[in-house]
Amino acid sequence: MEDTYRHKGLRKKLVDEIRKKGVLDENILGAINRVPRHLFLDSGFLNFAYEDKPFPIGSGQTISQPYTVAFQTQLLDVQPGDKILEIGTGSGYQACVLEELGAEVYSIERQQKLFVKTKTLLTQMGYKAKLILGDGYLGLPDKAPFDAILITAAAPEVPEILFEQLKNGGVLVSPVGGGSVQTMMRFTKSKSGKLTKQTFGAFQFVPLLKNVAND
Ligand code: SAH
Repeated sequence: MEDTYRHKGLRKKLVDEIRKKGVLDENILGAINRVPRHLFLDSGFLNFAYEDKPFPIGSGQTISQPYTVAFQTQLLDVQPGDKILEIGTGSGYQACVLEELGAEVYSIERQQKLFVKTKTLLTQMGYKAKLILGDGYLGLPDKAPFDAILITAAAPEVPEILFEQLKNGGVLVSPVGGGSVQTMMRFTKSKSGKLTKQTFGAFQFVPLLKNVAND
């Protein structure tokens, strides 16, 4: 759980790199600067923790690239106190960035092993994000509606049920596409409940799969 001056220095460099790539929101950059990303990687991979790259975290899954985390977070337009649902907890890194921005975070993961590992880590780190083992295709109806929903795995289409769990005035951000490259999309639900969509370029995510898994 150590966070040394060296780690802090590397993190500051990472933040500068993300800023240069176009994420200018200082609240988001501040949140990235506060989350010790090296703790989310197995200790043998410390040198990779502050490169702006995705990285394998076991169970065939990856921790997202920091730029992608910053970019999706920017599209969510998080306000302190927002209730946010993340689909695809993975390492838990994105959930912690959202929590650092003052959000109340619910995050669903389908891989049981990863869920247990991440829940243990986030508790040790003192984060309060509520992690749920489940199938994100179903959302989280008993905690709905959400101010924002973030999907961090790729589906050919956003499951309709998730739009129903979004507040009027809320946004849903998701990579959309069935191939190896997806389009980042933001859906905004108007005060009257009408959806509009915007696209934000190409990204690569692991697929959104159905059902809980034990591998
Ligand atoms: N947000 C993560 C990166 C996510 S990688 C981070 O910050 O590290 C995508 C994750 O989505 C994987 O862990 C994968 O197991 C999970 N996933 C895939 N399909 C899912 C589903 N239907 N419900 C919940 N999680 C799912």
